[in-house]
Amino acid sequence: MPSYAPRGPAPANNQARFDLRSDTVTQPCAGMRAAMAAAEVGDDVYGDDPSVNQLEAYGAELLGFPEALFVTSGTQSNLCALLAHCGRGEEVIVGAKYHIFADEAAGASVLGGIALQPIPVADDGGLEAAAITDVIKEDDPHYPISRLLCIENTVWGRAVSLKRMAQATAAARAAGLCVHLDGARLMNAAAALGVAPQALTAQTDTVSLCLSKGLGAPVGSLLAGPKAFIARARRARKMLGGGTRQAGVLAAAGLYALTHNVDRLIQDHARAETLAAHLTGLGVRHVTQASNMVFFGPDQDPVTLSQELATRGVTISGAATTRLVLHKDIDDAGLAAVMTAFDEVLA
Ligand SMILES: *Cc1c(COP(=O)(O)O)cnc(C)c1O
Repeated sequence: MPSYAPRGPAPANNQARFDLRSDTVTQPCAGMRAAMAAAEVGDDVYGDDPSVNQLEAYGAELLGFPEALFVTSGTQSNLCALLAHCGRGEEVIVGAKYHIFADEAAGASVLGGIALQPIPVADDGGLEAAAITDVIKEDDPHYPISRLLCIENTVWGRAVSLKRMAQATAAARAAGLCVHLDGARLMNAAAALGVAPQALTAQTDTVSLCLSKGLGAPVGSLLAGPKAFIARARRARKMLGGGTRQAGVLAAAGLYALTHNVDRLIQDHARAETLAAHLTGLGVRHVTQASNMVFFGPDQDPVTLSQELATRGVTISGAATTRLVLHKDIDDAGLAAVMTAFDEVLA
């Protein structure tokens, strides 16, 4: 599967009109910028920033937890979570292709002395209960202490079903483990499954949500969980250098994202479906689509493909499998232009 790293040519002037590399490329809209400019701020390390406090309260309620913590990135959010859940010599069981294992520079091991035990990820993006049970260690001085299961949703755009999540969390709980949900794109998962986000988060002890992906904020994630957990995560955030001061200008963007950009995610999913059908119609092989993502295996050299698309204002990341991500800055006209560019390049 593709990595997140952009492999194609970067847009020459950062002015690519249709950037499909990720949903992290969105620009803050005028309304979001106005909310940022108007934000009341204070020193958040003192707990004094009203906009941060408002975002954390709103996020906690939205996600169905007593408290939430505003952090600088999804990676920092997961790392704070792991440091708050586990001590040195303790172990996290995690999907081998999940972000926490594959894409976070093993931060929990480097900085927390935490062992990461990867297990296979099934085709639907979920984890098999038996695979979890198999690696949970008995209490034996030879082994790390199994403490936490990390699940992810969505996984490569795929929304893992509630049932599938429940099987995994039950396997972990049966052995006394806690469960953390890396819900970077949790709102996409909820939209794709047609459920409220709490239907997913109710299954887990803690959750991380990115505000800077499909939701369109420039910076930030929310980590939510019980009060004592958030107190430990706040300490971890400070230790990691993530205590920030007048962060309300960023929190205001996050609050705007949560109040304006959640309901529209289904539009991204619908456009991804349209794009996938269009590519299939053009004879592209191995096209798959899930939530806001389309994947395909290009028959031509991916670098050439991305270069030819770039001359038409379309930026993609060319790898062995190409990932196209729909987001709020690709509207219907943008989608039409993207499809025209593919028509020309693949003709
Ligand atoms: C993007 C992502 C993260 C990390 O978020 P950053 O803000 O890029 O650090 C974590 N988990 C998943 C599943 C992601 O997609």
